Amino acid sequence: MNSKSYHIAKWWEAAENGKLLCTLCPRYCTIGDGQAGFCYIRQNINGTLYSTGYGRPTGFAIDPIEKKPLNHFFPGTDVLSFGTAGCNLGCKFCQNWSISKARLDDVQSTNASPEDVIKLAKKYNTPSIAFTYNDPVIFGEYVIDISKIARQEKINSVMVTAGYIDKNARKDVFKYIDAANVDLKAFTERFYNKLAFAHLNDVLETLIWLKKETDIWFEITTLLIPDENDSEEEIKNMCEWILQNLGDEIPLHFTAFQPHFKMSHKQPTPASTVKKACNIAKNLGIKYCYVGNIHDHEMQNTYCPKCNSILIERDWHTIKVNNLVKSKCANCDVQLPGRF
Ligand code: SF4
Repeated sequence: MNSKSYHIAKWWEAAENGKLLCTLCPRYCTIGDGQAGFCYIRQNINGTLYSTGYGRPTGFAIDPIEKKPLNHFFPGTDVLSFGTAGCNLGCKFCQNWSISKARLDDVQSTNASPEDVIKLAKKYNTPSIAFTYNDPVIFGEYVIDISKIARQEKINSVMVTAGYIDKNARKDVFKYIDAANVDLKAFTERFYNKLAFAHLNDVLETLIWLKKETDIWFEITTLLIPDENDSEEEIKNMCEWILQNLGDEIPLHFTAFQPHFKMSHKQPTPASTVKKACNIAKNLGIKYCYVGNIHDHEMQNTYCPKCNSILIERDWHTIKVNNLVKSKCANCDVQLPGRF
């Protein structure tokens, strides 16, 4: 493809020696002519930055919304899901590395305009579209153009993201977003630095911004990796930070790691570790905590925080029973936070 086939990027400025500074994420890559940034899909071509992933998804799937995971956002509905090549994080444990670590030429990309994506959502009658699989921050221009039309068409837009985004760019990228699942990968800078090539504080700032300055519904996911981020102390510190800064109503998902990519030598996370983390969170006061990648019927359900009745009963990603009455507990009338 030549530059005429590509979409001119937002969020960049000229830097020294003909290079360009990408200001989309806190990595702030300085990109020389002909080169791409760390995420592979933002490229300097003759002094202009292009979003080379724009309009080039790596394929579509229809998933249950619970798989994103979002447990308090239109439970039991389908979501049209896709991502592109590349990623702006460098997680050694990436669970989707065949896509996120791929350059555009390495993966089968299809061509899909924003209008094509909306048509697909309508064809399959999915009430939501999710930007997922790799981090959608890096194809922010495409996210904006799709989510803007989706809003007009009354289709929800969902970001599944690590939240590693510049504070100015995030106002643009999230402008038409309805819900997000944000990976809080750990609660130490050591982990972010060593295993994800990123910084914890930028992610925490995004979470605070989502809570305080937007109406976007969001949930948090932490993938627990043995001996890296699963200590009782770290989980307590994370939960206390969430309670102080985001409140007790943001659903928190602890999921089990499977050995992948550069951490294939590690053991999978035992189910007992994931359940223990969930119990710590609940004991500290987090009202809605869920387990993922392990089968535990009880810890996948949603309970009323007041009377403990089962509000939504799940089996993996399937809704078995939804007892909500107009998004409230039928027994004691407590309102479940989320969108229903
Ligand atoms: S979005 Fe990509 S090119 Fe831009 S700063 Fe982040 S990693 Fe670098």
